[in-house]
Amino acid sequence: MERGNLKEVAEAIKDAKIVVALTGAGISTESGIPDFRSKNGLWSRFNINEYGYIDNIISNPAKVWKMLRSLINDLKDAKPNPAHIALAKMEEKGYLHAIITQNVDSLHQKAGSKNVVEFHGNFREAICLQCRKIYPIEYALRQEIPRCECGGLLKPNAVFFGEPIERDVLIKSFGYTENCNVMLVVGTSAMVYPAAQLPVMAKQNGAMIVEINEEPSMIAGIADHSFYGKAGEILPKLASLL
Ligand code: NAD
Repeated sequence: MERGNLKEVAEAIKDAKIVVALTGAGISTESGIPDFRSKNGLWSRFNINEYGYIDNIISNPAKVWKMLRSLINDLKDAKPNPAHIALAKMEEKGYLHAIITQNVDSLHQKAGSKNVVEFHGNFREAICLQCRKIYPIEYALRQEIPRCECGGLLKPNAVFFGEPIERDVLIKSFGYTENCNVMLVVGTSAMVYPAAQLPVMAKQNGAMIVEINEEPSMIAGIADHSFYGKAGEILPKLASLL
């Protein structure tokens, strides 16, 4: 099953002009943040159809904000784990050029990573659904049903199901994807589109695809190297070879 050679990956990274990491919720489980689809994931506690869609927050903001409050509280105390730190060190040494993350937890930035594209936005901020004004998330948390000065409903500045990805985020992500020589795909089930399309695009453009996951993900079939285990153990080993 596992077919990966860390030394070969490290050599490819050293030879590469551009190396990109695509990360998902799995990179943060070792920081105590549940992912979505694993056995103890978020969607085993909250029904995706009742909480995950933009229509849910519009039709029942009190219910969805109650769930969001506890989620945001969990994120506040979370600390980066060795996987986040390994990627930050790789960037610092010039071996990693960008992280495209599907996560909203800001843990890459807390670990010291500088060039982070937040594909699905973030939970640091709230945004008005009417006028698009952005506030620090604390502003929203002070109200039971958070509202903008204009009266519009606030939601975390993150992409809910049924919402499009920001245009500039797509442009940046496609740019890195088309030009990278190596893509590390870490802790993502690769089931959420369009993010799941990025490794496929990178492969089509000739990049080496490196899958790091607890179990085979949807991109296992196109991966050149697959490592099945904890990202917090595999990434520090890779970083130590650079
Ligand atoms: P997902 O839940 O669909 O998949 C997580 C993947 O990570 C699984 O394949 C699992 O096997 C793997 N995994 C779990 N723990 C791991 C570990 N320690 N090491 C390596 N792999 C591990 O997550 P996704 O693909 O990111 O897509 C779901 C969406 O959920 C994303 O859009 C993201 O925005 C959102 N989300 C974000 C957070 C966060 O910000 N931390 C948390 C939950 C969900």
